Amino acid sequence: MRIQQALRRLAARGPSPWPVVSVYVNTRPVGTAMTTYRPFLKKRLAEELKSFKTRSPEHESLSVDAARVQHYLDYDLQESTRAVAVFACYGDGDLFDAVQVPIEFPEQRATVGPLAALYPLLRIADRNQCAAVLISDTHLARLFTVTLGAVEIRREVHNPALHKSKSAGDGDPSHTQRHVEEAWRHHAREAAQSLEELARDSAASWILIGGDEVIVPELLAALSAAARERLLGHFAWNILIPESELARAVDHEVAKRESMHRIARAGELVTSAPHAGALLGLAPVVEALLAGRASELFLSDGFPANAEAWACRACRSFGPGPAATACPVCGRSELQSVSLREELGAQALAHGAAVHFVAALSVPGFDSRGGVGAFTRYP
Ligand SMILES: [Zn+2]
Repeated sequence: MRIQQALRRLAARGPSPWPVVSVYVNTRPVGTAMTTYRPFLKKRLAEELKSFKTRSPEHESLSVDAARVQHYLDYDLQESTRAVAVFACYGDGDLFDAVQVPIEFPEQRATVGPLAALYPLLRIADRNQCAAVLISDTHLARLFTVTLGAVEIRREVHNPALHKSKSAGDGDPSHTQRHVEEAWRHHAREAAQSLEELARDSAASWILIGGDEVIVPELLAALSAAARERLLGHFAWNILIPESELARAVDHEVAKRESMHRIARAGELVTSAPHAGALLGLAPVVEALLAGRASELFLSDGFPANAEAWACRACRSFGPGPAATACPVCGRSELQSVSLREELGAQALAHGAAVHFVAALSVPGFDSRGGVGAFTRYP
């Protein structure tokens, strides 16, 4: 699931004179019910093939791609995969790239054009944060990492004092109670330490803690200051919570927090642009992307999917509006008509900028000024 690497590779290619196939399908676990994407994919690829002259090089390239995309989907899916994005262009350097993800795409699509259609994958990449999770009671701690709603790593920490506690009683109830509480505290410290190790090893963006009212305060007290900064919250999850239910709950909490963060950042763009390294609206953002000055691109989900742009294969400049015959920057006739939304995303990736999405109309001042903004590297 190397989403970011695949995105960068694909964005670096720029527009192609050959037909580039982009396929997004929701698959099912291998070995269960009939998959439902097949008829859809077959029909879409057949339609696209019809728009090219039979036996032309483009038609040939596209039919090779149609066959190998289907072959890949038939034979190369992993157990945890729920959806797949595949990009292919035999005619242009034999491109073939695929990303398998554990969550479904909002819609299935298969398109052919000069650019790999990266938008749905960019949206998933923006949600691709790892969360380190600890659920504990006084006896056992379960640790997980959750990314895109799927559990990736599992660990357990047992309270070693538990087995000794029966013989620990010496007839004085308050002494026994103190001993038990000390054992809980010790367990909490070990569990918190394991959590921090796990968060470090997996480069987790968030930390979540679950448990009852006895253990949670002990766990929180045992966390380092650095870990507390990444603490998303603590929850009354039971130690026996099924893994799939936990993964869903964690995904929900992370998505909610990340979405709030995006809204706050878009709000910052609205209040500070055009100052302090903040740009708002299409024209200044295009200029910053072309100059390689953007560090983060923000797009509203309400940004029109069908807005048109021109992109130059020779000098990689682009701009909104239909393609003219010659490039206004380099003068060569290598312009292609592309989707503006796709090109903004691809240009940001190609220049090393992060791409974030803001829920439509969640920041009205953002949508009303084009639904696009950026923070720059050199304010
Ligand atoms: Zn040009």
